[in-house]
Amino acid sequence: MKIHILQIPDEGKHIEGEDPASVFELEDGTVESIAPLFYSLDVGLSEGGLFATGQLRTTFRMGCVSCLDPFELPIEVNDFACQVELDGREHVDLTESLREDILLALPPHPHCDGNGQRTCPGPPQSGSKSTPTESQRDVWGDLDRLKL
Ligand SMILES: [Zn+2]
Repeated sequence: MKIHILQIPDEGKHIEGEDPASVFELEDGTVESIAPLFYSLDVGLSEGGLFATGQLRTTFRMGCVSCLDPFELPIEVNDFACQVELDGREHVDLTESLREDILLALPPHPHCDGNGQRTCPGPPQSGSKSTPTESQRDVWGDLDRLKL
């Protein structure tokens, strides 16, 4: 998402749009970006810098840490804020800042029932206690209990 400095009036400007899902460059396979990165930002100039505040929104698909089912998780960042020094540039690319803030909003241990739209069926009935994910699930369960 590039901003042309010369197109920002003194009173600032409201910018809305989207960047393609490919900006997230997710390659580890556990989280997949399935929607564009929508942004709604107020940008302005001050003392040689550009600042932007506003909202970001996108959707990811990832695996539930309990039942291991893939599910879709909308992510919203409502308090995005960043400031960039201009160094005489006429264009500023905010893509990296948007991307980082969205990725920071991802849950470290996502549950498919986190948004209340379904009930997690729980761990799959594999009949084996030695699957690699078994111990991981125990850790996540402990963390959940700690939070309560
Ligand atoms: Zn689940």
